[in-house]
Amino acid sequence: MNKTTKALVAEVRAGSRRAVARLITRVENQEPAAREALKALYPHTGQAHIVGVTGPPGSGKSTLVNVLALALRQHELSVGIVAVDPSSPFTGGALLGDRVRMQDLAGDRDIFIRSMASRGSLGGLASTTSDVVKVLDAAGFEVILVETVGAGQAEVDIASAAHSTIVIEAPGMGDEVQTIKAGILEIADVLVVNKADRPGSDRTVRALKQMLQMGSNGQPVRHHSRLLQADTQADGQRTDDADGWQVPVLATVAVDAQGIDDLVAALQDHRQYLLASGEWLARERARSRQEIERLLSAYFLEELAQAVPAARRERVVTAVAQRETDPFSAVAALVGQIKGEEVTQSGSVPGG
Ligand code: GDP
Repeated sequence: MNKTTKALVAEVRAGSRRAVARLITRVENQEPAAREALKALYPHTGQAHIVGVTGPPGSGKSTLVNVLALALRQHELSVGIVAVDPSSPFTGGALLGDRVRMQDLAGDRDIFIRSMASRGSLGGLASTTSDVVKVLDAAGFEVILVETVGAGQAEVDIASAAHSTIVIEAPGMGDEVQTIKAGILEIADVLVVNKADRPGSDRTVRALKQMLQMGSNGQPVRHHSRLLQADTQADGQRTDDADGWQVPVLATVAVDAQGIDDLVAALQDHRQYLLASGEWLARERARSRQEIERLLSAYFLEELAQAVPAARRERVVTAVAQRETDPFSAVAALVGQIKGEEVTQSGSVPGG
C-alpha cells in the first residue's frame, strides 16, 4: 500500500468526511488502490448496524429514510445512508435525491449520505454497495441505512445483505397488497405501511399481518432467518430460537415523522434479538459467503478473459446457441483453456 492510500485509510478511520467521500469515489471507479484501502479497513468493520430499506417506488422510502436518520440522531447515533438506484443513470436522479435530502440533513457531521446508481451490471452494484458500506462502517458510522427500490431480485439481494431489513408498503398501491412480490415478505424483519394518513392503510396493515401468518401460498411465511439458521448450525454454532422474532407491522406517516419512534424501537429490538440469538453471526456468515462467491466468480471470469480471446468466447456462445455443442462441454473446454490444457478432440472449443 502506498503512502497516499495509507494516509487515506488513517483519515477514514478518524472519521474524516472528505476522506470517506474520496475513498467511496475510488471504490466506485474500481481503482486498485481502493481495494488496498478496503483490505486495510476490513478488520475495523463489523461494528455498524446495517439496515436495508426497500419497497416499491413512491412508497416513501427516501422520505422515511430521512426522518429515520433524524430520529436516530436524536438517539445520539451516527448514520450513514447509501441510496442505491439501479434504474437511474449515474448523475441526474441520484443528485436530485441528494439535494432534497440535504435540506434536512445537511450540516450534521454525524450523517453521511451517498447516492449510487448502476453503471454496469447489478451484480457490480451489489459489490460496490457492500464496499461503500464497509467504508462507512470503518469510519465509525453506527447505523448504516441502505435504501434500494424493491423492483427486482438484485435490489432485494442488496437490501437483504443487511442485519435488519425494513420493507415499506403504502396503502392503495394495488387493490390489496398484491404489490408485495413473492420473496419480499420473506426478507422483511420489519414491515412498514407508510402513508398511514391515506385511506385504506388499516386494511393494508391487516392484510400484511394476515399474510405474515398465512403466506400467499397458504403456508405461513418462512422467514429467511430459518434458512440462515441451517447455515449457522453447519458451523457448529447454535442459534437459540430463530422463531423468536415476530415481524412487526408498523404504520408511519413519513412526511409528518409519525410512527418513527416505534420504528427506531423495532430496529433496536431486532438488533438485540440478532445478537442474543446468534443470528447476527449467521447473517454475517451469509453475507461473507455471498461476497466470497461474488469475488470468486469475478476472479474466474477474469482468468477466462485472460486465457481465451473475446472473439473465441463469443464463438463458443454461438456454438451453444446453435446446438453445435452443449453448455457443459463448452464450459469444460473453456476451463481446460484456463488451465492451459491441451485442447482435446471431444473438448475442443468449437470454432477455436
Ligand atoms: P420513494 O420513491 O419510495 O423514495 O418515495 P418518496 O420518499 O420519494 O415519496 C414519494 C411521494 O410520497 C413524495 O411526494 C412524498 O412526499 C410522499 N410521501 C412520503 N411519505 C408520505 C406519507 O407518509 N404520507 C403522504 N401522504 N405522502 C407521503
